Amino acid sequence: MADSDRDLLLSRIRDVPDWPEPGVVFKDITPLLRDPAAFDTMTELLGAVGGDDVDVVVGIEARGFILGAPVAHRLGAGFVPVRKQGKLPWQTTAASYSLEYGEATIEVHVDAFQPGERVLIVDDVLATGGTVRATVDLVRGAGAHVIGVGILMELGFLNGRDKLADVNVHSLLLV
Ligand code: AMP
Repeated sequence: MADSDRDLLLSRIRDVPDWPEPGVVFKDITPLLRDPAAFDTMTELLGAVGGDDVDVVVGIEARGFILGAPVAHRLGAGFVPVRKQGKLPWQTTAASYSLEYGEATIEVHVDAFQPGERVLIVDDVLATGGTVRATVDLVRGAGAHVIGVGILMELGFLNGRDKLADVNVHSLLLV
């Protein structure tokens, strides 16, 4: 990745301290989405994580939808939303994972993937890795292959990769 691309993307991500709770520095990507050049650079680089042969791009609610849909379009792939519990209208498969306090559950439609399909997972931030881990398990549970995970920004100090040793994770930015 060119230094100029990295500098452009980094410059368009705003740190918001103590949001949504004290001690968290929220990575706000709305300035990046607002800038056509930065948005285009991001979707191009995330698409490259998947290579030429992606059947489906998965976006994780909610910002993963904004990133994943243009990546899917660029690759000529389909798009699948992974959503928080209770949001999808039809039959779903669920996966739960631990948060700092309590548990979270994500869901996907039962017919979202065909066995053997090649899947690229996209999200904005990799923090503890629980969300991506659960998403990988949903895809594999349907018999599809996770060929890669494309992340805009990885928070390295939270060691999310430790949960993803069996997956090809590529982060555009590491902080
Ligand atoms: P995790 O499961 O801990 O890796 O959390 C990942 C999910 O939470 C992603 O979908 C992110 O959008 C969101 N997230 C976690 N931490 C942050 C942060 N510091 N800034 C922005 N989004 C975050």
